[in-house]
Amino acid sequence: MTKQIFQVSHGEIPVAGTDQVFPVRRIYCIGRNYAAHAREMGSDPTREPPFFFQKPGDAVQVVLPGETADHPYPPLTKNYHYEVELVAALGKGGRNIPLEKALDCVYGYAVGLDMTRRDLQSEMKDQKKPWEIGKAFENSAPVGPIHPVAKTGHLAKGEISLSVNGTAKQKADLSQMMWSVGEQIARLSQLFELKAGDLIMSGTPENVGPVIVGDVMVAKIEGLPELSLKIVKPVA
Ligand code: MN
Repeated sequence: MTKQIFQVSHGEIPVAGTDQVFPVRRIYCIGRNYAAHAREMGSDPTREPPFFFQKPGDAVQVVLPGETADHPYPPLTKNYHYEVELVAALGKGGRNIPLEKALDCVYGYAVGLDMTRRDLQSEMKDQKKPWEIGKAFENSAPVGPIHPVAKTGHLAKGEISLSVNGTAKQKADLSQMMWSVGEQIARLSQLFELKAGDLIMSGTPENVGPVIVGDVMVAKIEGLPELSLKIVKPVA
């Protein structure tokens, strides 16, 4: 019997209404999946094939309903942005999953944020370098509890919104996604072998913007409890 030389902690997310946790494997994120957001990022929102990037599984910050979680402002940015997103949590995976079977892979849904160091992302984009430093850092994926499909059904429409200090910022409908969650799973499974534990952050609508220390963000998706986070001073 072999033993690990040290223990590594993985992200895990509570499953709503149970004492179970969902262990996180990978976090896949789709870019520019709402036309108006693609336009504000300077792209032509024609329906070109979806593109993806990843955050590490331990980038998850669990946010429980009813609390306002402290979210530390990350280092080396002066333009830290929110992106509210529907998160699909996979209970099974596979390769080359046909579209008509894709949603069978979804165990549940959650509200999430794809927090972004926009200045670093933009610099890297301009230099044709990877975006990783803009997207894939500690706590960059705040996520609420996972709500099993068995209880909520599939979330294909309904309001998705984000406010800062009580002022509405982002507001759209899940039905405005250019690529549905099922289409994202089908496409991702051609590129990667998907597995139980994978999360898919399904893209953000328009009107992303900055937050600073002291701001309180509230993220909502119809049918799920809201997430509340307060931006606090960077970790020393
Ligand atoms: Mn995003």
